[in-house]
Amino acid sequence: MSYVLVINSGSSSIKFQIVDPAARASEDPLVSGLVEQIGETNGRLTITHAGEKHVSQQPIADHTDGLKLSMRALDRLGVGPTSLDIIAVGHRVVHGGMVFSAPQLISDQVVEMIRDQIPLAPLHNPANIDGIVVARELLPDIPHVAIFDTAFFAGLPPAAALYAINSEVAAENQIRRYGFHGTSHEFVSQAAAEFLDRPLASLNQITLHLGNGASASAVHAGEPIDTTMGMTPLAGLAMGTRSGDIDPGIIFHLARTANMSIDEIDNLLNKRSGVKGIAGVNDFRELRQMIEEENQDAWLAYSIYIHKLRHFIGAYMIALGRVDTIIFTAGVGENDRFVRRDALADLEMYGIKIDEERNRLPNDGPRLISADDSAVRVLVIPTNEELAIAQKAAEVAAAQPDADRVAF
Ligand code: ADP
Repeated sequence: MSYVLVINSGSSSIKFQIVDPAARASEDPLVSGLVEQIGETNGRLTITHAGEKHVSQQPIADHTDGLKLSMRALDRLGVGPTSLDIIAVGHRVVHGGMVFSAPQLISDQVVEMIRDQIPLAPLHNPANIDGIVVARELLPDIPHVAIFDTAFFAGLPPAAALYAINSEVAAENQIRRYGFHGTSHEFVSQAAAEFLDRPLASLNQITLHLGNGASASAVHAGEPIDTTMGMTPLAGLAMGTRSGDIDPGIIFHLARTANMSIDEIDNLLNKRSGVKGIAGVNDFRELRQMIEEENQDAWLAYSIYIHKLRHFIGAYMIALGRVDTIIFTAGVGENDRFVRRDALADLEMYGIKIDEERNRLPNDGPRLISADDSAVRVLVIPTNEELAIAQKAAEVAAAQPDADRVAF
């Protein structure tokens, strides 16, 4: 059996999974792991394998330390690179800029090109690169493949991709809509076609990735024609802690009148806004509890969240002209039936009707939640970004006649 090691490297954590790229979407990975508190004295490694959790605590100095520790622990469990046939390492990379529109076999040159995109994602790309550099050192004989969150949206039509700002300034500073969560939007739109047994090319879809970060996309025949996240993942829907779209004039107002620095405003809009900024919590289970206790702030936060969601659903219905499916995915989309119900309430005249009983079913795989007489099929499709990354990495690796071949 062949596997792919999938790595999602953050600034102080590394998430990894060992995945069979031929697995079904609902299958658990062979192994999943998490290195936390990198750079701190209270570092922790958690590995889940065969239904058991193995936790070890020790200082983890840096990403090299974290990944070395993980590989050793995997080998001890008999599921490491020395015992398994690992055919590729798939790295999640947040920003591919204008350069990367497809998964990319990683060479030294590719690492430098990902480095060049750092100004576009200063918080994410450096950590992604750390993971790539360390993993290539530790596993030099396995092909490494970068999978970009932005790649799915590289072909957005210009009217959706470009902002109505001075085009010289935009071009000089690479300002455009890049979009994010691409791996997930692509995965669920394809999975929906399979679930309905319909050709992807025949479907107009609205995909709603509602996790802590949240984005919506309009997908025509498998290709996105619009998406809510923009140059950065701050745009679009109201999210757990991010504001989503706001009047850009607010930023000038805060700088001029409240004397806030750019970094303070950045922090405010990314970390202290969204549902959390209004209700004080960003977990939708807690939010629901507060709403049931008639907490007005929780109700207001929820109402704004739903208002923005309906705003974009409406926009994408018009952009697509005809809608075949609306798909809910990620933590909130897969689990919160209230969000699904309220996002699509009272839209019967547009052919959208949720079946309350179906909507109540627990999250156990792809399912239809619309009524039989709903023209639009409303689906819940659990996303599996790691499997999607594993499949793409395996494909790229298989296309290389020689693992040592340089990409460019
Ligand atoms: P991330 O964007 O961090 O990858 P996820 O897609 O895992 O996030 O979504 C995490 C969010 O999903 C949580 O913050 C929580 O709001 C929501 N969530 C998870 N489980 C449930 C549930 N059973 N009911 C409602 N919301 C849930």
